[in-house]
Amino acid sequence: MEGEEFKVAAKEMVDYIVDYLTNIRERRVLPEVEPGYLRPLLPPAAPDTPDQWKDIMTDIERVIMPGITHWQSPNFHAYFPATNSYPATLADILSDSIGCIGFSWISSPACTELEVVMMDWLGQLLGLPQDFLFSPEGTGGGVIQSTASEATLVALLSAQSKKLKELGHTPTTAHPQLVAYTSDQSHSSVERAGMLGGVLTRLVTSDEQFAMRGPALRQAILADIKEGLIPFFVVGTVGTTSACSFDNLREIGELAKKFGLWFHVDAAYAGSAFICEEFRYLMDGLELAHSFNFNPHKWLLVNFDCSAMWFKNSNDVVEAFNVDPLYLKHEKQGQVPDYRHWQIPLGRRFRSLKLWFVMRMYGKQGLQAHIRKQVSLAHQFESHVMEDSRFEIICPVTLGLVCFRLKNEDNTMNEKLLKNINAGGVIHMVPSKIRDVYFLRFVVCSYQTESDDVKTAWKEVKKQADLLHL
Ligand code: PLP
Repeated sequence: MEGEEFKVAAKEMVDYIVDYLTNIRERRVLPEVEPGYLRPLLPPAAPDTPDQWKDIMTDIERVIMPGITHWQSPNFHAYFPATNSYPATLADILSDSIGCIGFSWISSPACTELEVVMMDWLGQLLGLPQDFLFSPEGTGGGVIQSTASEATLVALLSAQSKKLKELGHTPTTAHPQLVAYTSDQSHSSVERAGMLGGVLTRLVTSDEQFAMRGPALRQAILADIKEGLIPFFVVGTVGTTSACSFDNLREIGELAKKFGLWFHVDAAYAGSAFICEEFRYLMDGLELAHSFNFNPHKWLLVNFDCSAMWFKNSNDVVEAFNVDPLYLKHEKQGQVPDYRHWQIPLGRRFRSLKLWFVMRMYGKQGLQAHIRKQVSLAHQFESHVMEDSRFEIICPVTLGLVCFRLKNEDNTMNEKLLKNINAGGVIHMVPSKIRDVYFLRFVVCSYQTESDDVKTAWKEVKKQADLLHL
């Protein structure tokens, strides 16, 4: 495909995308296909001679769309959001077309330098403690990772390397006595980071608000020290996946300081809310953390992938993974970050472009309005639930997640209700379970969700409950 042909095809694709997103409400949110649906729709092997673009365009509706779960649909209320936006899509087109791989400053200076500035802009928008930001005197700074899972792993490996150096070991020595901590409500990626790092991870029992608190963590640490283990890392969660609960960062941070643990804060979903001052109380104690991460690709209108991570002392990560072959060296080394040292892969895309476009096209006020609207829609759904005596809310609604269930029914009946709701195809939700109590999670996800969509969602829940003769 040459330039002129691309211009025509790209315009056609842009039209398709706008039509898709504008009319997405009309599509069934959850597909009805069965596993293996796609292979029979394609030839058994790649074509010998080029296909026509028009045939490829036609195949999007024939092959792809029947198997799409429409995450951007206003009727999608599952998991957590993955909001995209036109400015971020434009940035991704540009990034894909520049096609640079910004692993070091010299490999594309703008790629590194825009990221440095954007991570400061974003950190300021969230009201992060100043020492997480870049400054000529300080050691703080931010980096874009692909996912929160990767950010947690990078934090854990940095902490491991730091602790092993403190203990006089070389960072590559395996050390089976190292132990990490997180809450029993934290995302599975934290436990997975422990597995990948080859360390023991303790799941600390959360309190009745599903929060990890100081006394329980302290007890776990002391028990391990008594056994000769070496506590080195703790992850606090701000906005847990199941119930959007909030660990007590101050209590965790103080213990981390006392016992010499690296303290990482995972705010994958909830972090976007800190753009609004009224939600910042939820991150009280963040100044005690060594590293912090949230996903603009979840709730801040930045297309996947873009996971923002900050370190208070970036030397910890740079020194943890530092290998320096000649072919990656350059003369300006040390004057600006070489982001290859801050992450696991070598290659990296120009993802700061989408942060730049989104922050400029919405401004702080536009992004705040987006978050506030979504939180108010969650409260609207909460009111609907509370008006129906068959249901109960099972934990406080703080941001865009409402956890609810049939009050006087067992788990099986609640499971049946959700199964029927999803089978109806009008809306899509996923469940969770805490301490053996199964519940439904309604999340405001799409930027197109309006009050009427929330009413539609509630109508569907009620209808399915009626059909169960409840
Ligand atoms: N942490 C929390 C609290 C989450 O809710 C999630 C995903 O929903 C993750 C981590 C994992 O996110 P990612 O897919 O970016 O690794």
